[in-house]
Amino acid sequence: GVVPPAARRVLLKLSGEMFGGGAVGLDPIVVRRVADEIADAVGQGVQVAIVVGGGNFFRGAELSASGMERARADYMGMLGTVMNALALQDFLEQAGVATRVQTAITMGQVAEPYIPLRAIRHMEKGRVVIFAAGAGMPYFSTDTVAVQRALETLCTEVIMGKNGVDAVYTADPRTDPTAVRLETVTYREALHKRLAVMDSMAFSLAMDNRVPMVVFGLDTHGNVTRALLGERIGTRVTP
Ligand code: UDP
Repeated sequence: GVVPPAARRVLLKLSGEMFGGGAVGLDPIVVRRVADEIADAVGQGVQVAIVVGGGNFFRGAELSASGMERARADYMGMLGTVMNALALQDFLEQAGVATRVQTAITMGQVAEPYIPLRAIRHMEKGRVVIFAAGAGMPYFSTDTVAVQRALETLCTEVIMGKNGVDAVYTADPRTDPTAVRLETVTYREALHKRLAVMDSMAFSLAMDNRVPMVVFGLDTHGNVTRALLGERIGTRVTP
């Protein structure tokens, strides 16, 4: 059987928005900053797996709204996540962190295939594992993959880095001045109050499997390190 980790093992979800710095393509300054923050936490003994999004290149739903067949558009979305993964790998290696990229769509010259037991072994050796190409399946989101990879590689929690928002609120703080910031929220409360924490498939997978999660802001420098180390930032979503 698979032994649960003795160390803190965290799955970090980074959205495509972060990689693009809010634009299409790659913002190397932001990616380097986040890589350095990850390196800081790895240096302090945290085991790290990362799921990367790809919305800075393509979102399948948007391409399909403009006339493409949905499944093919989703594959383009997944390929975008691979470019983000390679960029993050590069800046992590530059920061002195050993890394492996594993993809859900096989591309042997670029990355390993997704092999969960091997991913666990990498983390035990102090390597950061970057999961790319989502689940390899159209109609899924990388948020859902983040929860699934965390479950399968025995991560102790999922931390969801967000742009433009630093926690879960009772309403959208960008449009509603009465929005209240939540320190903690249960999955049941979030569902009941219809708080938009993540997409519904990711949400139900996390709730049903009792995955502890932290939703935090990527805009504040140092937050990635803090969240990886388990400092109390953002909102804790509890089973
Ligand atoms: N995608 C997919 N299956 C997956 C993961 C991603 O089809 O398992 C596609 C989907 O088209 C999605 C795109 O890849 O829009 C980019 O991923 P996502 O939107 O989750 O990235 P993020 O919002 O985190 O930038």
